[in-house]
Amino acid sequence: MILVLRENASQAQIDNLIIWLKSMGVDTHLSVGRYQTILGLVGDTSILDEDMLSSLDFVESVKRIREPFKNANRKFHPDDTVIEVGGRKLGGGHFQIIAGPCSVESEEQITYIAKEVKKAGAGMLRGGAFKPRTSPYAFQGLRDEGIRLLMEAKAETGLPIVTEIMDANHIPVFDENVDVIQVGARNMQNFELLKELGKLRKPILLKRGLANTIQELLMSAEYIMAGGNEQVILCERGIRTFETYTRNTLDLSAIPVIKELSHLPVIVDPSHATGLSRMVRPMSLAAAAAGADGLIIEVHNDPQHALCDGPQSLTPDAFSKLVPDISAILGIVGKELG
Ligand code: PEP
Ligand code: MN
Repeated sequence: MILVLRENASQAQIDNLIIWLKSMGVDTHLSVGRYQTILGLVGDTSILDEDMLSSLDFVESVKRIREPFKNANRKFHPDDTVIEVGGRKLGGGHFQIIAGPCSVESEEQITYIAKEVKKAGAGMLRGGAFKPRTSPYAFQGLRDEGIRLLMEAKAETGLPIVTEIMDANHIPVFDENVDVIQVGARNMQNFELLKELGKLRKPILLKRGLANTIQELLMSAEYIMAGGNEQVILCERGIRTFETYTRNTLDLSAIPVIKELSHLPVIVDPSHATGLSRMVRPMSLAAAAAGADGLIIEVHNDPQHALCDGPQSLTPDAFSKLVPDISAILGIVGKELG
């Protein structure tokens, strides 16, 4: 349920209402926007008398929300959420490019790529340490050593690090050392993992599952937010369709749909969406034009010999040529890089 409050509502009236709602077992989320103040009610609101709430002279209207997601819902929180990572902003007009290899392979590799992507304009470094591979015989990542090498690359470049978690047992190490914790497509509905991540106060990059709807993505964000962690970045990374030319089908329309439904920032992964490096450039430009708040792009110094996802990786040179064109599109849609 949401209450739209009148402009003249006093702080004391709002505070008293919040205290009373709490005593009824209903949590609140106050959002003071430029034009409207909204009180979002979370919990069992069926016990509340809608007419009584409407009759309060500082309440303009009362709306019951039918959508099953509340914390992630734009109706509760009309303004865009802006996530800050190491002094960089993502969302609300601030666009970030996260770039780096699929997997951390060695100290030289990750440090070299980190320097190159930073020079080209990336604001954060990606790199998998724990890898969700389809085959148990494929390279599984350097694991803890991978996290350590990412930290070294961060120390060298100042770039915040983004890496995927697969096991809730790793949360203490990730919470201490990683700037943005990625939940991969395969774990989007690992609800126990999401609940544990909800206890942190750290940005979570939540990727859309291979065969999940936008609503299911928002419900997964809700799991994290219900625990009190409101820093969720959504990521469209392509979904399974009957089309097989590209690795997945990039659902670009998910961007404006999510923007309508949610205040959370949404970024696009054109690398996993297409699986083909030559498709990364057009899809990156399209994502920026469609209103995305950022991109996560795989970049490798030697794609042919990459231990994972070489065919979809850009070289540092191709990446550096792409960034200025993304910036040009951001100028048209009223956003800025960084
Ligand atoms: C990744 O980003 O390295 C990755 C495995 O992506 P996804 O979970 O989208 O497949
Ligand atoms: Mn990859």
